[in-house]
Amino acid sequence: MRKSNVIGQSSLLDRFETMISSGRVAHAYLLAGPEGIGKTTMGKIFANMLLCTSSVDRPCGVCQSCMQFASGNHPDFIQLIPNGKSIKVDDILNLRRDIVIKPYQGNRKVYMVDDAHTMTQFAQNALLKTLEEPPSYATIILGTDNINALLPTIISRCQAIPMKRMPSDDIYAILIERGLSSDEANIFARMSEGLPGRAIALSLDENFKVLREDVISYLDNLLSMKSWEILKHTALFMDNRDDIGTILDILVVFMRDVLIYSETGDYNLIINRDKKSNINLYSNLFTTRQIKTIIENIETARKMLNDNANYQLTIENMLLSIRGGVKICS
Ligand SMILES: [Zn+2]
Repeated sequence: MRKSNVIGQSSLLDRFETMISSGRVAHAYLLAGPEGIGKTTMGKIFANMLLCTSSVDRPCGVCQSCMQFASGNHPDFIQLIPNGKSIKVDDILNLRRDIVIKPYQGNRKVYMVDDAHTMTQFAQNALLKTLEEPPSYATIILGTDNINALLPTIISRCQAIPMKRMPSDDIYAILIERGLSSDEANIFARMSEGLPGRAIALSLDENFKVLREDVISYLDNLLSMKSWEILKHTALFMDNRDDIGTILDILVVFMRDVLIYSETGDYNLIINRDKKSNINLYSNLFTTRQIKTIIENIETARKMLNDNANYQLTIENMLLSIRGGVKICS
């Protein structure tokens, strides 16, 4: 990894660089933010920078330390991930035995603890002892999406680094680099809610691709159904109950596209660029007011389902309300 290859998060990279170049590296950091925001990625880049022997453009990608880091064989970088569902006290005791051994090379050792909130109470207490008296050469980077599950005494001994969501343009660039087509990268970047990990997961999820096609073709069919027919054609929603959150996301994003296209007539602004004809069809049949109502109805359905409302009734009402928004009666 070279600094110039890191996409996005430039202010965070600058912050890391300032800490290193000014010699103000803390013994412990807490990278906090929702799942998929890039805590592990940025934590590893920070570790890579800390261990890089270059004095400029860290990580340089060419020094011995960077080469070792890239190959996953740096002797002074240790990553802890949950063993099963949690990080157990034995894992932390291993860390404590290792941390007292001086660096094998260079003058730093870096530990990265992923999903730190999964540490058991015993594990957290064991880590606390190390955080109270860390060796001068050691830096511990904790990552968590649930800061409330950590002991306040752990949090207070770490320098907090809240992670910011990424602009969709940066996520788009990440997906393009991973080999996605422009259309696909656009869809996943815009559906990721600023979470690059979510965008990557969606892009690898075959089920998501199938669901998206099914939901959008269902919307097409919905236009020609009578109300009573809708109630007979809910299998897509009944069979994919576990993925209803994703289905509602697909519906909302599609309807927002219809709204944006209705208001601007500009296809460049829409997310589902490969579904131009479907979006055009809806934007011809619905007024912007109706589209806004449909989006509100979908969000209402989401809230009701979260509150454990009757699944089938809620879905049927939502579909009827989408169908009812059509200006032309068939
Ligand atoms: Zn380097």
